[in-house]
Amino acid sequence: MGHVKTSISIVVPLYNEEAVIERFTSKLIAVLSAVDCRYEIIFVNDGSTDATLEQVRRLCCDHSTIKLLSLSRNFGHQSALLAGLRYARGDCAITLDGDLQHPPELIPSLIAHWKQGAKVVATRRLDAVSSPLAKRLSSQWFYRLFRLVSGMSLEPGMADFRLLDRAVLDTLQDVNERALFLRGMLQWVGFRRAVVEYRAADRAAGVSKFTPRKMLALALDGITAFSVTPLRIATVLGFVFSLLSFVYLAYALFIHLFTEHAVEGWTSVIGSVLFLGGVQLICLGIIGEYIGKIFQEVKQRPHFVVEETIGFGDESLSATGAGDHAVRRRATAD
Ligand code: UDP
Ligand code: MG
Repeated sequence: MGHVKTSISIVVPLYNEEAVIERFTSKLIAVLSAVDCRYEIIFVNDGSTDATLEQVRRLCCDHSTIKLLSLSRNFGHQSALLAGLRYARGDCAITLDGDLQHPPELIPSLIAHWKQGAKVVATRRLDAVSSPLAKRLSSQWFYRLFRLVSGMSLEPGMADFRLLDRAVLDTLQDVNERALFLRGMLQWVGFRRAVVEYRAADRAAGVSKFTPRKMLALALDGITAFSVTPLRIATVLGFVFSLLSFVYLAYALFIHLFTEHAVEGWTSVIGSVLFLGGVQLICLGIIGEYIGKIFQEVKQRPHFVVEETIGFGDESLSATGAGDHAVRRRATAD
């Protein structure tokens, strides 16, 4: 039979996941070997400080389908994902977390939707029982705020567990924004979409690498990368309050000119000074946020620095393939 099997790249960012990597890999391989496709597994080591790197190196020796992309330090989840996607050579790529919270069992149905023509197959997490209430609430509010401010609706519960067609992967080669927010980016590029739902599992082992600080940074990046509305809010606030202060001035003048007791407004003076000072600071902060963004963008630094790779040679995508598959070769990213 002359037909060439489709090839799939699996991209997994890893940051200090020594406790789960082994279990994750065997589960992933079990799922993949039941799929009639050639595949490569790209583990992106995002500057782990534990034994993750050694473990992946070992896995690379045991399985020819496993490849390692090791970044020179911790660049963050989004950059690690982008790095893996840039190195992916499959006809499509699937990204998922290495802590088994994104069930590998879902992969066949992602592929099925892709074969039916979807270029982006996203997943929607149905209420994660295990995640703390604060995390669920904050993510809910983030999505609401994002829609309000950017006019683009991101569906809540959509994490970075998805399938991307080669056409979409190629557009990502050109993404050079510093404030990387893949979720928004992928909404922005368009293409036909499909959604698969799943129930999130508990983290198999290890701890979440997302501190509240990292989440806040991601949320701020996400919003300011896709909208200038916050800037406009600053302008509107500025106008409203200057208007109000004119009204107040008129009132003060009236008191001064037509009544006896002019000097009594210490409290109101200090109050309005403080209030306006606060508003100005908010506006400056918002403007600063964007200037910072411009500063980051103009430097055009690459998103990640690769320190070590294993398995990205000339060999075919997977041992099962006949080897006649035309593989797209990509030189180093950026
Ligand atoms: N991760 C990463 N770099 C980071 C933080 C996280 O590569 O700086 C990886 C991590 O190893 C995991 C995935 O991103 O595979 C999701 O992280 P985590 O499970 O800690 O996030 P949560 O599920 O708690 O949102
Ligand atoms: Mg997780």
